[in-house]
Amino acid sequence: MDCPLCKDLAIKYGTDRLKDGRQTQTYYCRRCHKRFNERTATPMARLRTSKDIVAHALLIRTEGTGIRATGRIVEKSHSTIIRWEQRVADRLESWSPPAPPGIEVTIEGDELYTRVRENLPPLGL
Ligand SMILES: [Zn+2]
Repeated sequence: MDCPLCKDLAIKYGTDRLKDGRQTQTYYCRRCHKRFNERTATPMARLRTSKDIVAHALLIRTEGTGIRATGRIVEKSHSTIIRWEQRVADRLESWSPPAPPGIEVTIEGDELYTRVRENLPPLGL
């Protein structure tokens, strides 16, 4: 895996454990002395929930499912769903092209961006 900063080849450097018990490979760049994982530099960076669950939640949100209904489906609180959407919306400009590695769901154009902005509750909720 290439270092997201300098694009040099990074070496494998142990694993991180996700909430669901699965492990994700971590890497170390000898040039930058940075430690990162498969999600670094993607919208999923530093999320502790499996990207499959996040991707599923965001996908059904783009199909028009409400925030609270989505939360019930993936067994997360609606505030968690909102946080995921904000993370993706904040970084969506870097998604296309090309799609980041490790993301199965495809977001068409700025569709998700638009929906996320429309569906967000007013600040302070
Ligand atoms: Zn590097």
